[in-house]
Amino acid sequence: MRPEQVEVEAAAESDFAHAQALRRNVVAFKFGGTSLLGAKRMMHAAGLVRAAARASNVTVVVSAMKGVTDRLLSIARALSDGRLAYARNEAEGLIHLHGDVLQDLHLAPAEHDRVRCELHLLGRDLLHEVPQRGHVEHAAELSDRLASFGERFSARLFAAALESSGVAAVPVASSDFVLTCDTFRDAKPHLDETKSRGRAVLLPLLEDGLVPVVTGFIGATPDGRITTLGRNSSDFSGAIIAHVVDAEELVIWTDVDGIYTANPQEAAEARLLHDLSYDEAHALAASGAKVLHPHVLPLAAETEMTVWVRNTFRPDVRGTRIGLPQDANDRLQSGGVA
Ligand code: ADP
Ligand code: ASP
Ligand code: MG
Repeated sequence: MRPEQVEVEAAAESDFAHAQALRRNVVAFKFGGTSLLGAKRMMHAAGLVRAAARASNVTVVVSAMKGVTDRLLSIARALSDGRLAYARNEAEGLIHLHGDVLQDLHLAPAEHDRVRCELHLLGRDLLHEVPQRGHVEHAAELSDRLASFGERFSARLFAAALESSGVAAVPVASSDFVLTCDTFRDAKPHLDETKSRGRAVLLPLLEDGLVPVVTGFIGATPDGRITTLGRNSSDFSGAIIAHVVDAEELVIWTDVDGIYTANPQEAAEARLLHDLSYDEAHALAASGAKVLHPHVLPLAAETEMTVWVRNTFRPDVRGTRIGLPQDANDRLQSGGVA
């Protein structure tokens, strides 16, 4: 066989492999801040992705590690109050916190150095926002820029945790494609534009067999200024990104067994709910059940994606399923034949 013929055949083979890869179903996994708090938990969560990646293409959406967003927002407030030394100290503390997680991941030397370099660059950008002298005007725009660092740190660390678990992964900044209005701290995404831009970013990664690890919570205005979608909105980012990649399922991995009739950490009589319609879940979320951001449900209902709320620490528990009634779903899957 001539060399060029070998090349053509190899290219055809790899095209076939890509097509096969995308013919597999896509699932989106969103991990909350408690699930990612420290190297041990990140490695455990990575194991859940590795298991799912055997059967499906997986796209991951991450929150900041628990407590990090609060600390970043306290830096923003300290800057506006002129408490510059406190702000600087906190920023350095957060850089060390993430550096310690990297150490605890015990990556291979080359991988460790690469991720350390990425974290160093992020840390440098964070310190750039926290000057040691002068006056900083408190603006919602600065507060969003600062808040975005939590998810940006955790996406890099979680991609590294996946790599070290044998899952090829790449961190992705959602601000590269989640396009929003400029209402800082509560920005609304433009879904159509986000979908087309997001597909251009994410599908080639999935085709190459990589797991994208996308930052929750953040987007950007059309002129590139970082926004956030509101507190606790990484669940919403999970739904947006699931929609972008046409995932059939979104799994919200959190620290309780699913959605209960009331907050199980506060009410001993709270009962676990096994199956909910989109409307029922929306009513619970809108009445303050923090376990699921209310914006998830209208989008999930519109796209008929199934949403699961499951416990990262007890993956043997089924969790809560939100979707079309199971029998209607079965009919749809079998081409509408009842
Ligand atoms: P994550 O960081 O995973 O997004 P959150 O802290 O935002 O997690 O949400 C999970 C928490 O939501 C649970 O630990 C629980 O205390 C609280 N919660 C409030 N209401 C409910 C409810 N009805 N069902 C389950 N959890 C609830
Ligand atoms: N990290 C963000 C917050 O603490 C978003 C999220 O966790 O859902 O609000
Ligand atoms: Mg949450």
